[in-house]
Formats: sequence, C-alpha cells, structure tokens
Amino acid sequence: MNELSFDEKKYLLETIRDIKDFPKPGIVFKDITTLLNNKDAFNFLTDHLENRYKNYDLDFISGIESRGFIIGAALSARLRIPFVPIRKPGKLPYITISQKYSLEYGFDEVEIHIDAFSSKKDAKVLLVDDLIATGGTAKASIELINQTNATCVEACFLLDLKDLNGSKKLKDFVKVYSVLEV
Ligand code: AMP
Repeated sequence: MNELSFDEKKYLLETIRDIKDFPKPGIVFKDITTLLNNKDAFNFLTDHLENRYKNYDLDFISGIESRGFIIGAALSARLRIPFVPIRKPGKLPYITISQKYSLEYGFDEVEIHIDAFSSKKDAKVLLVDDLIATGGTAKASIELINQTNATCVEACFLLDLKDLNGSKKLKDFVKVYSVLEV
C-alpha cells in the first residue's frame, strides 16, 4: 500500500475541515483536528504511512512544529524508531542550529538540536509535516537535517496545496510524497 486509491483519498480528505479566512483574510486553513478526532481516519492514515515506510530502513523521523509532531511521532512509534522535533526559534533548550527562510513578508526560522541524530552515523531521516504550501518551511528543515551530517531521504506531507508549487520546488532537493493533494 504505497499510495492511496482515489476512494481512500476521498475518505481521508473528507475528514479534514476547511476554515475560511483563518488566520487572516484570504487563507483557507486546512484543519486536521477533525481527522485526528476521528479514530478510524487517524488510524487509517497511520497504517498507510507505516506500510509505506516500513521497508525504507529509516533511522529517524523528524517532524516540523507543530502538526508535524503529531503525525511524525505517531509514525515513529509505529516504526519503533526515534523522533526528532524541528521547532520554531527559542523553544529547544540545548545547543541548536537554525535556518532562516523567507515568507511573503519577512523571515521565519526553524531550529534543531545540534546532536539530534548523533546516535547514528550517516542517519537516514524522513521529514514529516501536515501540509506543504510554498515549501519554505520544509526546505529550511531539510537544510537543517543535512547540516547535521544526516540525510533527508524523503519529505512526507499529509496535504499538498499544489497551486503553491512548494512540492515541485522541493523535488529538486529531495523525494517528496504527499498523501493527499488539493
Ligand atoms: P509553507 O512553508 O508555505 O510550505 O507552509 C507550510 C507550513 O505552514 C506547514 O507547517 C503548515 O502547517 C502551515 N500552513 C500553510 N498553509 C496552511 C493552510 N492553508 N492550512 C493549514 N496549515 C498551513
């Protein structure tokens, strides 16, 4: 079960709620709390990801704050491999490295603990987030992983907002898998 069928995608997509004009006018926010709140849907998603990645020989799952923590940690528990958080600035308590990326107006930043992957030489890492839009957050996160002497072998998203071209841009750097596309 490497990719979902049309009907399976439709089933999962219908468990995600659209919130118009959140957090600001013009944005349609993809609210996955309704998927997480549905035990069958959340389990179905986790089963699918476990089946897809169980033979990838991954060493770590790394999730992007904050919804990437939920999906990524659920998957790392299933695969019995460690989880590494990528966080917003100032949240991680130990020594960090950080990567800035540009937004429509201004900059944002992501951080990782410097020793996050040090328990395994040449670690193979799967990056997980709930959604890819412009791809800026994911690209900066991949750069962070690669700066720690680990390798990001694939970036996995529950949802790809195709029109924003983020996954297209990211494919120059890494393999990309999106469970659903809208
Ligand atoms: P980007 O860096 O533009 O690819 O944005 C991706 C990050 O922003 C992810 O961590 C998403 O959770 C969040 N995000 C961006 N757009 C949306 C949206 N329409 N609905 C929900 N989350 C979003």
